[in-house]
Amino acid sequence: MSVLVYVESPDGHFKKTGFEVASYASKLAATMNTDAIALVIGKADQAGDLGKYGVSQVIHVNSNDNIGFDSQALSRIIADTAKEVNANVVILTHSSSGKALAGRIAVRMDAGLASGVNALPDVSDGFKVTRSVYSGKAVATVSINTPNKVVSVMGNSISVDASGSAVTPDNKSVSLPATKLQVIEKKVVSGSVPLPEAELVVSAGRGMKGPENWGIIEDLAAALGAATACSRPVSDADWRPHSEHVGQTGIAIRPNLYIAIGISGAIQHLAGVNNSKTIVVINKDPEAPFFKAADYGVVGDLFEVVPRLTEAVKKFKNQ
Ligand SMILES: Cc1cc2nc3c(=O)[nH]c(=O)nc-3n(C[C@H](O)[C@H](O)[C@H](O)COP(=O)(O)OP(=O)(O)OC[C@H]3O[C@@H](n4cnc5c(N)ncnc54)[C@H](O)[C@@H]3O)c2cc1C
Repeated sequence: MSVLVYVESPDGHFKKTGFEVASYASKLAATMNTDAIALVIGKADQAGDLGKYGVSQVIHVNSNDNIGFDSQALSRIIADTAKEVNANVVILTHSSSGKALAGRIAVRMDAGLASGVNALPDVSDGFKVTRSVYSGKAVATVSINTPNKVVSVMGNSISVDASGSAVTPDNKSVSLPATKLQVIEKKVVSGSVPLPEAELVVSAGRGMKGPENWGIIEDLAAALGAATACSRPVSDADWRPHSEHVGQTGIAIRPNLYIAIGISGAIQHLAGVNNSKTIVVINKDPEAPFFKAADYGVVGDLFEVVPRLTEAVKKFKNQ
């Protein structure tokens, strides 16, 4: 038995969430007295570096660039590889790709699936793992009783441990039927820090009054080295791109710091952010629901508070 971890390498590079799942699989394998094996599909410049995160072997499947969009083909490679290396646990990132793959792999492996987990499993008595439910208001413990298991892991759920050594990847070629997908256009979201893996997030809502005022949000984010996010009405109104929309119908994030500026704190917004480690709310309405979820709050006009906060951050950082 072993633990197989699929590590995504968009555009040939690993993301922080990739190192997190490699660390997650290695720590889980250690508790199960077995090995963690990483699987990389497509271009990956530094595949062997995954060894630093504790995996004992890296299998690198060379394939055409577009396979990253084809969850049918990817799930087949991952399930087949799991069988070949005798892995009974498959670990994935709970990304949009991981979400598309997890169910398919579980069906192929006849496995139980725990999706979006936020901690390492307890394997002392079975296989139990926790995930956040009811918009982050409760924690469910999921028990997987089937011999094969598939687990997708939320970003920022585990600290990475890079104390191991790089390994030489084992190259593998697979033959697949021609993909039924045709990629017509690829739009890459640009920005300094990708939102799903950002540790610091500055987010703003309708209290900003209009897109022309976003400069103060970008200044604060730049001073902190943070990603920017927004509430849904803001992206619906095209004030900000949809890639920044967080919440129940947007991206779910769990950064170390979430600063919510001019956002009321509706349940649908909180669903995507209330697993953040520290929440700071800036709102002029002391009754705004977001204050109930906040660790720190500032009651005040954001147009006065935010520039002063940015100045204070710059002064603190000597910028
Ligand atoms: C099915 C469904 C799914 C949804 N999914 C999402 C989702 O994924 N994400 C999401 O965000 N929403 C979602 N919504 C919408 C959600 O219910 C709220 O309407 C939305 O989050 C409100 O956005 P907001 O807080 O930016 O705006 P508002 O509710 O208008 O709040 C603006 C806030 O700014 C404050 N403010 C105004 N001026 C200032 C100032 N000068 N200084 C300081 N504070 C100020 C106000 O006091 C207020 O609290 C969903 C709704 C539905 C029905």
